[in-house]
Amino acid sequence: KEPLLEIQDLKKHFPLTGGVFGKTVGHVKAVDGVSFSVNKGETLGIVGESGCGKSTTGRMLLRLIEPTEGAIKFEGKDITKLSKKDMRSLRRDMQMVFQDPFASLNPRHTVEKILEEPLIVHGIGNAAERKKKVRELLEVVGLSSYYAKRYPHQFSGGQRQRIGIARALMTKPKLIIADEPVSALDVSIQSQVLNLLEDLQSEFDLTYIFIAHDLGVVRHISDRVGVMYLGRMAELTESDKLYEKPLHPYTQALLSAVPIPDPEYKRDTIILQGDIPSPSNPPKGCAFHTRCPHAMDICKSATPQFKEAEPGHYVACHLYSND
Ligand code: SF4
Ligand code: MG
Repeated sequence: KEPLLEIQDLKKHFPLTGGVFGKTVGHVKAVDGVSFSVNKGETLGIVGESGCGKSTTGRMLLRLIEPTEGAIKFEGKDITKLSKKDMRSLRRDMQMVFQDPFASLNPRHTVEKILEEPLIVHGIGNAAERKKKVRELLEVVGLSSYYAKRYPHQFSGGQRQRIGIARALMTKPKLIIADEPVSALDVSIQSQVLNLLEDLQSEFDLTYIFIAHDLGVVRHISDRVGVMYLGRMAELTESDKLYEKPLHPYTQALLSAVPIPDPEYKRDTIILQGDIPSPSNPPKGCAFHTRCPHAMDICKSATPQFKEAEPGHYVACHLYSND
Protein backbone atom coordinates (compact mmCIF):
# COMPACT_ATOMS: atom_id res chain seq x y z
CA LYS A 1 0.00 0.00 0.00
CA GLU A 2 1.35 3.33 -1.05
CA PRO A 3 0.61 6.45 0.99
CA LEU A 4 -0.93 9.34 -0.93
CA LEU A 5 -0.89 11.62 2.07
CA GLU A 6 1.30 11.61 5.19
CA ILE A 7 0.64 13.99 8.05
CA GLN A 8 3.29 14.47 10.71
CA ASP A 9 2.74 16.22 14.02
CA LEU A 10 0.28 18.69 12.57
CA LYS A 11 -0.73 21.58 14.84
CA LYS A 12 -3.03 24.57 14.68
CA HIS A 13 -2.95 26.95 17.60
CA PHE A 14 -5.29 29.92 17.21
CA PRO A 15 -4.28 32.97 19.25
CA LEU A 16 -6.78 34.07 21.88
CA THR A 17 -6.93 37.84 22.23
CA GLY A 18 -8.21 39.82 25.18
CA GLY A 19 -8.19 43.20 26.90
CA VAL A 20 -8.53 46.64 25.30
CA PHE A 21 -5.37 46.26 23.22
CA GLY A 22 -6.33 42.89 21.84
CA LYS A 23 -3.16 41.26 23.15
CA THR A 24 -2.65 37.55 22.74
CA VAL A 25 -3.59 36.06 26.08
CA GLY A 26 -3.35 32.41 25.19
CA HIS A 27 -3.94 29.87 22.46
CA VAL A 28 -6.70 27.54 21.44
CA LYS A 29 -4.95 24.32 20.56
CA ALA A 30 -7.50 23.28 17.95
CA VAL A 31 -5.16 20.64 16.56
CA ASP A 32 -2.25 19.66 18.75
CA GLY A 33 0.09 17.16 17.16
CA VAL A 34 -1.80 14.84 14.82
CA SER A 35 -0.03 12.21 12.69
CA PHE A 36 -1.53 9.74 10.23
CA SER A 37 -1.25 8.61 6.65
CA VAL A 38 -3.80 7.82 3.97
CA ASN A 39 -3.09 5.19 1.34
CA LYS A 40 -4.02 5.46 -2.33
CA GLY A 41 -7.58 4.34 -2.92
CA GLU A 42 -8.34 4.20 0.78
CA THR A 43 -11.09 5.89 2.79
CA LEU A 44 -9.96 7.20 6.13
CA GLY A 45 -12.77 8.22 8.46
CA ILE A 46 -12.04 10.88 11.09
CA VAL A 47 -14.57 11.05 13.89
CA GLY A 48 -15.05 13.20 16.97
CA GLU A 49 -17.39 15.57 18.77
CA SER A 50 -17.59 19.20 17.69
CA GLY A 51 -14.49 21.12 18.71
CA CYS A 52 -12.18 18.08 18.51
CA GLY A 53 -10.25 19.61 15.60
CA LYS A 54 -11.40 17.30 12.82
CA SER A 55 -12.65 20.06 10.50
CA THR A 56 -9.59 22.21 11.19
CA THR A 57 -7.43 19.20 10.31
CA GLY A 58 -9.34 18.68 7.05
CA ARG A 59 -9.00 22.33 6.07
CA MET A 60 -5.30 22.40 6.88
CA LEU A 61 -4.70 19.54 4.47
CA LEU A 62 -5.74 21.88 1.64
CA ARG A 63 -4.15 24.84 3.40
CA LEU A 64 -7.49 26.58 3.59
CA ILE A 65 -6.22 27.07 7.15
CA GLU A 66 -2.44 27.46 7.52
CA PRO A 67 -0.89 24.98 9.98
CA THR A 68 1.06 26.34 12.93
CA GLU A 69 3.48 23.42 12.75
CA GLY A 70 3.96 20.04 11.15
CA ALA A 71 4.33 18.43 7.73
CA ILE A 72 1.70 17.49 5.15
CA LYS A 73 3.19 15.27 2.47
CA PHE A 74 1.13 14.73 -0.65
CA GLU A 75 2.75 12.20 -2.99
CA GLY A 76 5.92 12.58 -0.96
CA LYS A 77 6.15 16.36 -1.23
CA ASP A 78 5.64 18.59 1.83
CA ILE A 79 2.92 20.97 0.71
CA THR A 80 3.28 23.25 3.75
CA LYS A 81 6.41 24.55 1.99
CA LEU A 82 4.65 25.38 -1.30
CA SER A 83 4.03 28.96 -2.38
CA LYS A 84 0.41 30.13 -2.56
CA LYS A 85 0.56 29.87 -6.34
CA ASP A 86 1.91 26.30 -6.41
CA MET A 87 -0.63 25.37 -3.76
CA ARG A 88 -3.46 26.71 -5.92
CA SER A 89 -2.45 24.50 -8.83
CA LEU A 90 -2.16 21.50 -6.51
CA ARG A 91 -5.80 22.02 -5.46
CA ARG A 92 -6.69 20.41 -8.75
CA ASP A 93 -5.66 17.13 -7.14
CA MET A 94 -7.21 17.79 -3.73
CA GLN A 95 -10.83 18.85 -3.44
CA MET A 96 -13.27 19.35 -0.62
CA VAL A 97 -16.94 18.50 -0.17
CA PHE A 98 -18.61 20.55 2.54
CA GLN A 99 -21.31 19.79 5.09
CA ASP A 100 -23.82 22.35 3.95
CA PRO A 101 -24.15 22.20 0.19
CA PHE A 102 -26.50 25.18 0.19
CA ALA A 103 -24.01 27.48 1.91
CA SER A 104 -21.21 26.33 -0.39
CA LEU A 105 -23.09 26.88 -3.67
CA ASN A 106 -23.51 30.45 -4.91
CA PRO A 107 -27.31 31.00 -5.01
CA ARG A 108 -27.04 33.49 -7.91
CA HIS A 109 -25.20 31.13 -10.20
CA THR A 110 -26.66 28.38 -12.35
CA VAL A 111 -25.43 24.87 -11.73
CA GLU A 112 -23.52 25.14 -14.98
CA LYS A 113 -21.65 28.21 -13.82
CA ILE A 114 -20.94 26.64 -10.42
CA LEU A 115 -19.53 23.48 -11.95
CA GLU A 116 -17.57 25.29 -14.63
CA GLU A 117 -15.75 27.49 -12.16
CA PRO A 118 -13.05 25.04 -11.03
CA LEU A 119 -12.23 24.35 -14.70
CA ILE A 120 -11.87 28.08 -15.41
CA VAL A 121 -9.73 28.57 -12.28
CA HIS A 122 -7.36 25.82 -13.40
CA GLY A 123 -7.48 26.74 -17.09
CA ILE A 124 -8.93 23.39 -18.17
CA GLY A 125 -10.65 23.13 -21.57
CA ASN A 126 -12.40 25.64 -23.79
CA ALA A 127 -15.99 26.84 -23.30
CA ALA A 128 -17.55 24.01 -25.31
CA GLU A 129 -15.48 21.35 -23.56
CA ARG A 130 -16.33 22.79 -20.16
CA LYS A 131 -20.05 22.74 -20.89
CA LYS A 132 -19.81 19.15 -22.09
CA LYS A 133 -17.93 18.16 -18.96
CA VAL A 134 -20.57 19.83 -16.74
CA ARG A 135 -23.30 17.76 -18.36
CA GLU A 136 -21.25 14.59 -18.07
CA LEU A 137 -20.60 15.12 -14.38
CA LEU A 138 -24.25 15.88 -13.64
CA GLU A 139 -25.12 12.46 -15.05
CA VAL A 140 -22.25 10.83 -13.14
CA VAL A 141 -23.67 12.04 -9.80
CA GLY A 142 -27.15 10.85 -10.71
CA LEU A 143 -28.71 14.12 -11.84
CA SER A 144 -30.01 14.96 -15.27
CA SER A 145 -27.81 17.06 -17.54
CA TYR A 146 -30.71 19.37 -18.28
CA TYR A 147 -30.48 20.63 -14.67
CA ALA A 148 -27.47 22.68 -15.78
CA LYS A 149 -29.50 25.84 -16.23
CA ARG A 150 -31.19 25.66 -12.82
CA TYR A 151 -30.26 27.43 -9.60
CA PRO A 152 -29.30 25.83 -6.28
CA HIS A 153 -32.60 26.71 -4.55
CA GLN A 154 -34.46 24.56 -7.09
CA PHE A 155 -32.90 21.40 -5.67
CA SER A 156 -33.44 19.30 -2.57
CA GLY A 157 -30.70 18.95 0.04
CA GLY A 158 -29.60 15.59 -1.33
CA GLN A 159 -29.49 16.90 -4.90
CA ARG A 160 -27.48 19.91 -3.78
CA GLN A 161 -24.95 17.62 -2.15
CA ARG A 162 -24.71 15.74 -5.44
CA ILE A 163 -23.92 19.07 -7.11
CA GLY A 164 -21.28 19.73 -4.44
CA ILE A 165 -19.77 16.33 -5.20
CA ALA A 166 -19.87 16.99 -8.97
CA ARG A 167 -18.06 20.27 -8.41
CA ALA A 168 -15.35 18.49 -6.41
CA LEU A 169 -14.93 15.97 -9.23
CA MET A 170 -14.63 18.50 -12.07
CA THR A 171 -10.83 18.75 -11.90
CA LYS A 172 -10.32 14.94 -11.67
CA PRO A 173 -8.83 15.08 -8.16
CA LYS A 174 -6.89 12.27 -6.48
CA LEU A 175 -8.01 13.13 -2.97
CA ILE A 176 -11.39 14.28 -1.70
CA ILE A 177 -11.82 15.58 1.82
CA ALA A 178 -15.48 15.32 2.73
CA ASP A 179 -16.35 17.28 5.88
CA GLU A 180 -19.60 15.87 7.26
CA PRO A 181 -21.05 15.52 3.76
CA VAL A 182 -24.26 13.84 4.92
CA SER A 183 -24.81 15.38 8.38
CA ALA A 184 -27.31 17.94 7.09
CA LEU A 185 -29.34 15.36 5.15
CA ASP A 186 -32.31 13.20 6.12
CA VAL A 187 -31.33 9.71 7.18
CA SER A 188 -33.02 8.20 4.12
CA ILE A 189 -30.98 10.43 1.81
CA GLN A 190 -27.73 9.86 3.71
CA SER A 191 -27.26 6.30 2.51
CA GLN A 192 -27.92 7.29 -1.10
CA VAL A 193 -25.18 9.90 -0.97
CA LEU A 194 -22.83 7.47 0.82
CA ASN A 195 -23.47 4.86 -1.87
CA LEU A 196 -22.79 7.43 -4.55
CA LEU A 197 -19.48 8.34 -2.92
CA GLU A 198 -18.50 4.67 -2.81
CA ASP A 199 -19.36 4.14 -6.48
CA LEU A 200 -17.42 7.22 -7.50
CA GLN A 201 -14.40 6.05 -5.55
CA SER A 202 -13.92 2.95 -7.64
CA GLU A 203 -14.93 4.65 -10.87
CA PHE A 204 -12.47 7.53 -10.49
CA ASP A 205 -9.70 5.99 -8.35
CA LEU A 206 -10.36 8.37 -5.50
CA THR A 207 -8.86 8.52 -2.05
CA TYR A 208 -11.18 9.87 0.65
CA ILE A 209 -10.87 11.49 4.00
CA PHE A 210 -14.32 11.35 5.47
CA ILE A 211 -14.98 13.56 8.48
CA ALA A 212 -18.01 12.88 10.70
CA HIS A 213 -19.20 13.38 14.26
CA ASP A 214 -20.92 10.03 14.30
CA LEU A 215 -19.15 6.66 14.28
CA GLY A 216 -22.22 5.04 12.73
CA VAL A 217 -21.98 7.11 9.54
CA VAL A 218 -18.36 6.32 8.70
CA ARG A 219 -18.44 2.62 9.55
CA HIS A 220 -19.25 1.16 6.16
CA ILE A 221 -17.52 3.65 3.96
CA SER A 222 -14.18 3.67 5.83
CA ASP A 223 -11.26 1.26 5.55
CA ARG A 224 -9.71 2.76 8.65
CA VAL A 225 -11.09 5.16 11.22
CA GLY A 226 -9.36 7.66 13.49
CA VAL A 227 -11.05 9.08 16.58
CA MET A 228 -10.09 12.58 17.69
CA TYR A 229 -10.52 14.18 21.09
CA LEU A 230 -9.55 17.76 21.97
CA GLY A 231 -7.13 18.29 19.11
CA ARG A 232 -5.42 14.92 19.23
CA MET A 233 -5.87 11.48 17.76
CA ALA A 234 -7.04 9.09 20.48
CA GLU A 235 -7.18 5.93 18.40
CA LEU A 236 -6.77 4.83 14.78
CA THR A 237 -7.12 1.43 13.19
CA GLU A 238 -8.96 -0.64 10.61
CA SER A 239 -12.66 -0.01 10.64
CA ASP A 240 -13.65 -3.58 11.64
CA LYS A 241 -11.15 -3.66 14.49
CA LEU A 242 -12.26 -0.32 15.83
CA TYR A 243 -15.91 -1.33 15.98
CA GLU A 244 -15.25 -4.84 17.32
CA LYS A 245 -12.50 -4.13 19.77
CA PRO A 246 -12.05 -0.44 20.55
CA LEU A 247 -9.09 0.12 22.88
CA HIS A 248 -9.45 3.75 23.90
CA PRO A 249 -12.01 4.44 26.66
CA TYR A 250 -13.31 7.40 24.65
CA THR A 251 -13.93 5.25 21.57
CA GLN A 252 -15.61 2.67 23.80
CA ALA A 253 -17.95 5.35 25.13
CA LEU A 254 -18.75 6.72 21.65
CA LEU A 255 -19.44 3.23 20.33
CA SER A 256 -21.66 2.31 23.24
CA ALA A 257 -24.01 5.03 22.01
CA VAL A 258 -24.24 3.62 18.48
CA PRO A 259 -27.24 1.28 18.19
CA ILE A 260 -26.41 -2.33 17.25
CA PRO A 261 -28.75 -4.06 14.79
CA ASP A 262 -28.17 -7.50 16.36
CA PRO A 263 -30.45 -7.84 19.43
CA GLU A 264 -28.48 -10.89 20.67
CA TYR A 265 -25.48 -8.73 21.21
CA LYS A 266 -25.79 -6.39 24.16
CA ARG A 267 -23.50 -3.57 25.00
CA ASP A 268 -23.80 -1.38 28.05
CA THR A 269 -24.07 2.30 27.34
CA ILE A 270 -21.17 4.17 28.86
CA ILE A 271 -22.30 7.58 30.00
CA LEU A 272 -19.48 10.10 29.95
CA GLN A 273 -19.39 12.47 32.89
CA GLY A 274 -19.11 16.21 32.24
CA ASP A 275 -18.77 18.28 29.09
CA ILE A 276 -15.87 18.45 26.67
CA PRO A 277 -13.31 20.76 28.29
CA SER A 278 -12.40 23.96 26.44
CA PRO A 279 -9.57 23.54 23.92
CA SER A 280 -8.19 26.88 25.22
CA ASN A 281 -7.63 25.27 28.59
CA PRO A 282 -7.39 21.51 28.08
CA PRO A 283 -6.77 19.24 31.08
CA LYS A 284 -3.11 18.37 31.74
CA GLY A 285 -1.88 14.87 31.10
CA CYS A 286 -4.44 12.87 29.14
CA ALA A 287 -7.00 15.45 27.96
CA PHE A 288 -9.71 12.82 28.46
CA HIS A 289 -8.95 12.14 32.16
CA THR A 290 -11.73 14.43 33.44
CA ARG A 291 -14.31 12.15 31.79
CA CYS A 292 -12.59 8.80 31.62
CA PRO A 293 -14.06 5.92 33.69
CA HIS A 294 -10.58 4.30 33.81
CA ALA A 295 -8.52 7.35 34.75
CA MET A 296 -5.46 6.62 36.92
CA ASP A 297 -3.09 8.95 38.76
CA ILE A 298 -0.60 9.02 35.89
CA CYS A 299 -3.34 10.23 33.52
CA LYS A 300 -3.51 13.58 35.33
CA SER A 301 0.13 14.42 34.76
CA ALA A 302 1.56 12.52 31.78
CA THR A 303 0.28 12.87 28.21
CA PRO A 304 -0.07 9.40 26.69
CA GLN A 305 1.88 8.86 23.46
CA PHE A 306 0.04 7.80 20.31
CA LYS A 307 1.52 4.34 19.87
CA GLU A 308 0.97 1.07 18.03
CA ALA A 309 -0.61 -1.17 20.69
CA GLU A 310 -1.30 -4.00 18.25
CA PRO A 311 -0.19 -4.25 14.61
CA GLY A 312 -1.85 -1.39 12.76
CA HIS A 313 -3.82 -0.35 15.84
CA TYR A 314 -2.72 2.98 17.30
CA VAL A 315 -3.94 4.33 20.61
CA ALA A 316 -3.02 7.16 23.00
CA CYS A 317 -3.83 5.79 26.44
CA HIS A 318 -1.80 4.78 29.50
CA LEU A 319 -3.75 1.55 29.82
CA TYR A 320 -1.74 0.25 26.85
CA SER A 321 1.69 1.68 27.46
CA ASN A 322 4.10 -0.81 28.97
CA ASP A 323 6.83 1.58 29.96
FE1 SF4 B 1 -8.39 7.22 30.43
FE2 SF4 B 1 -5.94 7.46 31.35
FE3 SF4 B 1 -6.36 6.23 29.05
FE4 SF4 B 1 -6.66 8.86 29.27
S1 SF4 B 1 -4.77 7.73 29.49
S2 SF4 B 1 -8.01 7.46 28.24
S3 SF4 B 1 -7.51 9.04 31.31
S4 SF4 B 1 -7.05 5.56 31.06
MG1 MG C 1 -17.10 20.28 11.76
